[in-house]
Amino acid sequence: MAITSPAPDLIPRLTTKLLQLNRSKLRTVLDMITGHCPLNKHLSILGITDSPLCRACMETEETLILVMLQCNGVAEQRAAHLGSSATLHEALGDLGGLLSFWSELGWLE
Ligand SMILES: [Zn+2]
Repeated sequence: MAITSPAPDLIPRLTTKLLQLNRSKLRTVLDMITGHCPLNKHLSILGITDSPLCRACMETEETLILVMLQCNGVAEQRAAHLGSSATLHEALGDLGGLLSFWSELGWLE
């Protein structure tokens, strides 16, 4: 799912941070922002996987919002890397935590 309606001050701050990332990390973050990351909901739409369900909890569709904010199956990793972010905008405020979270999961590789 793409992120819409960011806070007015988010874009300049985010842009500055994005420009400091290497090419690989920048692509990972941009794929997340645009909703084109290889999560099961997206992969099932493309016909690449049979099930849109979350590989951690198997309870609901695996989307960016589910994994980053809601899934109990990755709650421990999320708390360790992202703290208690309540929104995607908050999570995007900590790109280091965001990238280490996804790196530990290994789901975007
Ligand atoms: Zn889940």
